Amino acid sequence: MKFSNLLDSLKQTGSRLVERGSFSSGSEPAETKTCDPDPFAGGITIHGRMLPSPMFFAVGNICNANCVFCGYQYNVDKKGMMSFDTFQKGFDQYLEMGGDWIDFTTESGDPLVDVGLRRKLTYARECGIKKISLATNGILLSYKDQYKALIDNEVDWIVISTPGFDRDAYKRIYRVNKYDEVLEGITQLADYKQSRGAKSDIAISMRLDRPVEAALCEPDYVSRIKPLVDQGAIRVELSDCIESVHNWSGQILEEDLPKGMSLIQELPEKIAGHTCSNIQHSGAVMANGDVRVCNCRYYKTERDELVVGNIHNAPLKDILYSQELADLIDRTTRGDWPRTCVDCSFYQASPTCRVPPN
Ligand code: SF4
Ligand code: SF4
Repeated sequence: MKFSNLLDSLKQTGSRLVERGSFSSGSEPAETKTCDPDPFAGGITIHGRMLPSPMFFAVGNICNANCVFCGYQYNVDKKGMMSFDTFQKGFDQYLEMGGDWIDFTTESGDPLVDVGLRRKLTYARECGIKKISLATNGILLSYKDQYKALIDNEVDWIVISTPGFDRDAYKRIYRVNKYDEVLEGITQLADYKQSRGAKSDIAISMRLDRPVEAALCEPDYVSRIKPLVDQGAIRVELSDCIESVHNWSGQILEEDLPKGMSLIQELPEKIAGHTCSNIQHSGAVMANGDVRVCNCRYYKTERDELVVGNIHNAPLKDILYSQELADLIDRTTRGDWPRTCVDCSFYQASPTCRVPPN
């Protein structure tokens, strides 16, 4: 499950942290900067990396949808879910480092497929994490009352990705016959939130093959979803209701998409002296304990050059600020990109920041 535009807004929080440190994002000249070498000072650590916020815990790589616009259909990895022990190990270390925000969104799969998600949510809350978020296709919200686990554990931000509220569109774009489950799940989630007086922000994003204005006039939206929006139980994130989708490192082609949906036309140009903001600032613990710097895109496999360690072999802190990761930042800054990044339309230039050698 991906939520590109919404993730951008999440990352603005990260940008503000950057501004507090000794380098800034945005219109800096294309050169490597010198950073405060004091680990964790102002959120900036060695190799110019902040502690990722959010830190992703991608709890599995299994999806119950088959979206036409998603690289999941080409994923060749062995499938599995994150054990509680793996989660606990990574989470405890993140919290100990001062981490404040975890996100259970997976880049290949849906977090609600994880039958152990409820236990992980409860543990994280009991340990005092400040913020929790996730994105889901919503198919399993009602399964074993998972919607209650999200509200009871005060998930701050829940994004539900849909192709709008039309049965045929669901089959056409998400390519599974699960429309009724999604509609029921969203209704139960919203009603339960209201009944508990919970503050969880529930946002609907849409991947559309028709204009959003048309999707918002469809009968099920008007009769089932709009009343929940009007009550303030959920909202539609219009900035993430899109007809143009990413290319998944060149895997998704224009001809794969239904009429009315298209690829983002222009590949962002890689800027000399810049890495990608995901490499510089992001981080994800994968189901098997791998730590990958991008939780947004992959080319066929997530076990690629963006994996910089495994929490079963080294402490998370050592991995997030390892020489291996510094080397990845350096090589991408020089224009030597892993295959996943080469044709990635999700690239966002980030000035590279390094500490001087001692
Ligand atoms: S629900 Fe998410 S992970 Fe699953 S196929 Fe669709 S976009 Fe991909
Ligand atoms: S270029 Fe794309 S795949 Fe590479 S780190 Fe950035 S977002 Fe991820």
